[in-house]
Amino acid sequence: MFSTMRHLYLHVPFCQRRCSYCDFSIAVRKRIPAREYVEAVLQELRLLGAADPGGVPRGTPEDGLDTLYLGGGTPSLLPADALGALLPSLLHALGTTPMGDVAEVTLEANPEDVTPDNAAAWRRAGVNRVSLGAQSFDDRVLTWMHRSHDAAAIGDAVRTLRRAGIENVSLDLIFALPAELDRDWARDLDLACSLLPAHMSLYGLTVEERTPLARWISRGAASAPADERYAEEYLIAHARLARAGYCFYEVSNACRDGCGSRHNSAYWSGRAYVGLGPAAHSFDGRARRWNLPAWEAYRRAVAVGRAPVESEEVLTPEQRELERVYLALRTVEGLSLTAPYRLLPPLSVLPPLTAWVAAGWAELRGGRVVCTPEGWLRLDALVRDLTGASVVV
Ligand code: SF4
Repeated sequence: MFSTMRHLYLHVPFCQRRCSYCDFSIAVRKRIPAREYVEAVLQELRLLGAADPGGVPRGTPEDGLDTLYLGGGTPSLLPADALGALLPSLLHALGTTPMGDVAEVTLEANPEDVTPDNAAAWRRAGVNRVSLGAQSFDDRVLTWMHRSHDAAAIGDAVRTLRRAGIENVSLDLIFALPAELDRDWARDLDLACSLLPAHMSLYGLTVEERTPLARWISRGAASAPADERYAEEYLIAHARLARAGYCFYEVSNACRDGCGSRHNSAYWSGRAYVGLGPAAHSFDGRARRWNLPAWEAYRRAVAVGRAPVESEEVLTPEQRELERVYLALRTVEGLSLTAPYRLLPPLSVLPPLTAWVAAGWAELRGGRVVCTPEGWLRLDALVRDLTGASVVV
């Protein structure tokens, strides 16, 4: 399946508790089974190499890894010495470039884990970008979210990372919270901007089944986030961040000075990637496969030498094209009007596109159609209008 490996994702599933809105595949643990995790991931890589010897790139740096992303879960809970052992072992197993040649090595971290010792150890291990789960600068809101840090920890974490030599910091923030929280979104944005992070990711709250939030809503203890609030706060974020010098280069992501995420940009441009760890997804340009989500099931599978894959889907040409259209419209590069499409008639003559431009939801720029912020709020509808397909991406 894997003929190259330029983008590698590691899913670290451990968290110390579950946030009120989170339905990710996590393993809540007081003690992080770091040794078992490192062994399991390296064993999965060996299994992958054995199944597809051509998938292990060797030779020149151009063949090697371009981005490595540790997401979760809470990767910052991995003890620094485990991370320091894991990353070089991974590259050694890949027979690829030294860690210093990997252009982007991102670690997702919770602010309370960013101690001077951890930050220095992460930097030594090769981490050059940290994505911080900030979510809000309001202690009341953080408590409601079941976050394990307070607002002051966010600024402390950013400064600690900088002192350790990690300048490329991203902040995650969540918007469109229930009205009764009376959250001051503009204040949160301004406080985030005042820390001058290179990057921000903004996510609207969604209510997922089997989360504490879903239970609160079902028994009337919280209200569901309103669509109007989502739209209003999304547009406030665009205005506020633009004023502070940030550019939205994707529907949910903004950066300054060209510091977009290389790893996530690979996803959005349809490039191949490999995911290791429970629940991790991989894509080779044609097929997508994903691992068993539960940590114990994943660990048992690799321990007996079995690929920990839960399932795989081979995309039809139509699905690939729909995905290409959808992903392109998510980004500021937009969708080419001249690239050949099988599903779509020539876009420039499509009445829906003209209507979208007239409504101010899309713009034509240099032979491409690019969504405006109002258009990004209606992205699924635009794809539906252009392709006639329900968006399933
Ligand atoms: S820290 Fe992240 S992954 Fe863990 S429970 Fe909270 S939101 Fe989910």
